[in-house]
Amino acid sequence: MSIEDLRVHQEVCTRCSQCKFVPMPESPAFATLCPSVDHGQFHAFSGSGKLITAYALSQGRATVNERLIESVYACTMCGACDTACKTNMGDLVEPLDTLYELRATLASDGHVPPAVTHAMQRIRQEGSRFGPRVDRSRWAENLALPDATRQRVEVLLHVGDDNAHDQAAWPQLHTVVRLLRQAGVDFGTAHDAESDAGGYAHDTGFRTDARRLAEAQAELLRRAGAKVLLTASAEAYAAFRNVYPRLGVDLSFVRVVHATDFLLELVETGRLAVRAARDTTVTYHDPCRLGRLSEPYQPWHGQWITVMNTLSVPDSPRPVRFGNGGNHEAPRRLLRRIDGLRLVEMPRNRLFAYCCGAGGGAAEAYPEMAQAAALQRLQEARSTGAHTLVTACSGCQRHLADVARAHGVDIEVQGVFDLLAPASAPVGAATVKGC
Ligand code: SF4
Ligand code: SF4
Repeated sequence: MSIEDLRVHQEVCTRCSQCKFVPMPESPAFATLCPSVDHGQFHAFSGSGKLITAYALSQGRATVNERLIESVYACTMCGACDTACKTNMGDLVEPLDTLYELRATLASDGHVPPAVTHAMQRIRQEGSRFGPRVDRSRWAENLALPDATRQRVEVLLHVGDDNAHDQAAWPQLHTVVRLLRQAGVDFGTAHDAESDAGGYAHDTGFRTDARRLAEAQAELLRRAGAKVLLTASAEAYAAFRNVYPRLGVDLSFVRVVHATDFLLELVETGRLAVRAARDTTVTYHDPCRLGRLSEPYQPWHGQWITVMNTLSVPDSPRPVRFGNGGNHEAPRRLLRRIDGLRLVEMPRNRLFAYCCGAGGGAAEAYPEMAQAAALQRLQEARSTGAHTLVTACSGCQRHLADVARAHGVDIEVQGVFDLLAPASAPVGAATVKGC
């Protein structure tokens, strides 16, 4: 695939700018949808603007400079433009496909912000951009978790390097382990053999690295023989479901599930009882990679044909991702089942959640843009009256908490699993509703 192959989409972009806004906003104060154009304040930073850039580059009518690189990489690859565009234009434009292709083109020519290049070097050397491989299993010291690369287990728990290297995420991982054990799940981890799943490499344009990481992950799974790939990482979940099919890496031999879905299933089938770790009002931030971006991608091998001399149409049914096939509800259903927690919604939620600013390499390359996005999201959370902003991605959590602290925003930031406790554990008092 190349930018040129997607010209049929780029040409029908009407420049309507709907990809910058929530289609039917609940609040004029929180109606924008694209952190990139909110930062750049210029059309080139929007999804549509990136289509124009891609088109111009492929036609040899633009040259790469610092500002062009900023317009492409000061973007979290959150997919909100894709979802908003499809709400208005159906499957005609497909902004995200061109965004992926544009970054792959720039990266192959070496036009990448230095911070992203540095992160990719760390992934190649250590299997993670967050820390050395020798530290990958420190979170699990003294837990005696089975090594799924040495002994057969039913469920392989993919921790995610964002979780494994972030000490603030460790209590959540410990909660997940306690809950899985309480439910009698036969699980293990790949210990230090686990690596970055490849989502970051793909999102930043390093497709060869992404494929290498994906193939290594698939091989590890094949050897381990587990039936279920359970991940606690939103970024990895999106990689397994959305990125791997784009790279031609097959995971169909294993069931892929996120920890929120898995634990909800255990609760709803009566295998697990959980309770609130504390009494509070929360609002839920949909991580882009757990929500919109985890909708499975299905490759299409048809062709676009021209009918009536003007209209481009697919010659066979073409699967289209509208963003609604991602995981928006499991974390909410999990939170709602717990007495002692009240869940209120932000104006921008689910399909049209505003990105926290941390993804796609933006936080390391353009931190001022990433901070502005987080600040806007924190203010939106504050507008609900919630005491706690809860999310299901340690990357979002870390970024939002850092910005809240730096800017003195009075709201607590927590992960979903921070708020759960096994029903038999000696914290809190509330129990699960309807179990
Ligand atoms: S990408 Fe879609 S929503 Fe954005 S300007 Fe083009 S047609 Fe409109
Ligand atoms: S992916 Fe997100 S940040 Fe990037 S252009 Fe689209 S909406 Fe804006």
